[in-house]
Amino acid sequence: MKVTYIGHSGFLLEASNAYFLFDYYEGDIPEMNREYPLVVFVSHKHADHYNPAIFELAKKYPYIYFVVSKDVPVKWKIQEYLAQDVALENKVLVVRKNTETELMLHGQAKPLKIITLKSTDEGVAYLLEYGGKKYYHAGDLNLWIWAGETKQYNDNMSIKYFRELEKLKGMEIEAAFVPLDPRQEQDAFAGMESFLEYTKTKKVFPMHFWGKSVIIEAFLRKHPEYEEQIVKVEKSGQMFEYL
Ligand SMILES: [Zn+2]
Repeated sequence: MKVTYIGHSGFLLEASNAYFLFDYYEGDIPEMNREYPLVVFVSHKHADHYNPAIFELAKKYPYIYFVVSKDVPVKWKIQEYLAQDVALENKVLVVRKNTETELMLHGQAKPLKIITLKSTDEGVAYLLEYGGKKYYHAGDLNLWIWAGETKQYNDNMSIKYFRELEKLKGMEIEAAFVPLDPRQEQDAFAGMESFLEYTKTKKVFPMHFWGKSVIIEAFLRKHPEYEEQIVKVEKSGQMFEYL
């Protein structure tokens, strides 16, 4: 398994002869093997998770698929590319929350299973099953507790967050991409802490930290027990490889 940090919540994961690109919005996408399938995921339409430039990749990679949350406006993009003789229609899969879909990737014997969770912000989180392993990208599914919000808002947020986490309980996950957002100040760790308690994830990549990777060091100072699991993501272009 190879993971490249692209920026913010954007990561490229390479596993079992396939590529999975998550929530790209800025930064450099590494060169990939064009013989392998590439699946581009969009968790929701917010500008820090979705950049329509992803569709340009269809011109370069023949075995590409796009999996996008229903809130992302893709119809007009499909039309636009049709005018350029790039047929996206059969390459775009639109998903809703709480669904399970199987996608047959080029040259693969078994399908990629795509399970969606309901985000506590907008759109979905993705749980993938591929090559006998599980991978998770949270999108903006996080415990968005804010000091300035009402108790009712924050309580409701907790209910919604733990309802989704329950679905991952005890699950063995190979790699997970989970928000760790310094804007939440004293409440920034709670979502990540619960995720680590609920799941058995081998490698957790913190994301959505707005360039402030010091929050990862702060998290590990409080939780040295997660030193092996938490990946110290620092700058875009960084690559991580695991057996
Ligand atoms: Zn976001």
